[in-house]
Amino acid sequence: MSDTKYIFVTGGVTSSLGKGIIAASLAKLLQAQNFKVTIQKFDPYINVDPGTLNPYEHGECFVTDDGAETDLDLGHYERFLNVNTSQANNVTTGRVYQSVIEKERKGEFLGKTVQVIPHITNEIKERMQLLGDSGDYDIVITEIGGTVGDIESLPYIESVRQMIWDLGRENAVVIHLTLIPFLSAAGELKTKPTQHSVKTLMESGISADIIVCRTEHELNEELREKLALFCNVKREAIIQSIDVDTIYDVPLKMSDEGLDKVVLEKLKLKPKKALDLSSWNAFLTQLKNPKNSIKVGLVGKYVELQDSYKSILESLIHAGAENETEVEVISLHSEHLETGNIQESLKFLDGIIVAPGFGERGIEGKIAAIAYARENKIPFLGICLGMQMAVIEYARNHVGLAKANSTEMEVDCSVPVIDLMESQKSIVKKGGTMRLGAWDCELKSNTKAAAAYQKSTISERHRHRYEFNNDYLDQIFDQNFIVAGTNPETGLVEIVENKNHPWFVGVQFHPEYKSTVSDPHPLFKAFVKASLAKKLNP
Ligand code: GLN
Repeated sequence: MSDTKYIFVTGGVTSSLGKGIIAASLAKLLQAQNFKVTIQKFDPYINVDPGTLNPYEHGECFVTDDGAETDLDLGHYERFLNVNTSQANNVTTGRVYQSVIEKERKGEFLGKTVQVIPHITNEIKERMQLLGDSGDYDIVITEIGGTVGDIESLPYIESVRQMIWDLGRENAVVIHLTLIPFLSAAGELKTKPTQHSVKTLMESGISADIIVCRTEHELNEELREKLALFCNVKREAIIQSIDVDTIYDVPLKMSDEGLDKVVLEKLKLKPKKALDLSSWNAFLTQLKNPKNSIKVGLVGKYVELQDSYKSILESLIHAGAENETEVEVISLHSEHLETGNIQESLKFLDGIIVAPGFGERGIEGKIAAIAYARENKIPFLGICLGMQMAVIEYARNHVGLAKANSTEMEVDCSVPVIDLMESQKSIVKKGGTMRLGAWDCELKSNTKAAAAYQKSTISERHRHRYEFNNDYLDQIFDQNFIVAGTNPETGLVEIVENKNHPWFVGVQFHPEYKSTVSDPHPLFKAFVKASLAKKLNP
């Protein structure tokens, strides 16, 4: 076993308390003291990965460079730490059982009954230590999805119990994140749900070292002492996590509360250097003191749920701060744009993004929004499906190919300008089979893309089955509508642009997966800049 230290983050009382943000914030504080940190997420559901889930279930599916389809919390980890995650950073129950069952079929447990304990828990423990054993990290933070007491979380909680035993108490910390509800009728914050949840954890043989309390109101000293007493932790291990305006404030709040200090003390570690959050603070200062503001329309079919387009929203925050511009995002349901008056719905926007997506629902609304952006010279960024629809819009409305479509929406389409990639045609299984992860793209010079990236070869993350059909290259593209980037090996169209327009860019990849606080994405920066310019000089 390596000398890596482990931090486990569990959740109590309710889901959606923001374990991912707390984990990422703690990691940020440790990173800012020169520790090498990574975060991994263990999800108790049975899907092998979230790639087959629709965003209404758990929000956006995040994609890593190595092509893993993962939980959106990995996006937070990358955005906070500016460090890449990989397949190993997200494990689900489905993946754990899949590999145990494969081992069983190979005969690795020959003669034995395969059981949750020890076989499933051993598999979980092995995966929990994979990144730590690489020797690349001083500290590994492991976030356990779900809430303690859930039936499906039990094997994970038991694995954590065993891990602590194996590692030794000074090499592991358990942080339990709970909710302190405020009863307005009584005018009081209540600690009982937290007491119960800590007790549930204890019943599984784990005593929390630190309680992070999500709350809408300040916890007073008396309440903190009461919590410490009932939850069997030191007073300084009661950490308040109060509601804040932006998730990017959370590292500072956690620092004020001393979360990193309690953790390091428990792990018997000394800071490798004094905490340095200067670049983080510089970002926050820019974020909170915008000189301008713009309204950006985000057209998608999952807009009811904020988390569906998490990475796009965060990328706009990063790019906004960089441009000293507040970006107000107006969510527009693509289905509603099919029936309403487009002009009325979009006329107040300074920029339009058409989101990624799958399937037919709302497609015509997306195309209508793109037509509006093109004709009215509104800065436009089309992402993945948004790029594909930009091609269809141009083919139909400008080139005159009225029947142009994607074979995703119309299998027998007579003008399939967007078609299944050759490599996808023989694939029948849906899980993990798209074109995924990082691929190179060569940029054409004198394009908006080249100006934004300031280089000629880029690498971006992908998640799609369909592509521009190169049989239509000559028919669709002209002096104005151009291919601005292609994959050097396959010739696949990666970026399209409209030159007869202030800023109109469609990308087959997902730039939003690579924007971080310290490295905002060039395309989002350029898009925000163009939208601001449009607002200032209409
Ligand atoms: N549905 C399209 C495809 O599979 C676009 C995917 C996406 O937007 N991520 O190619």
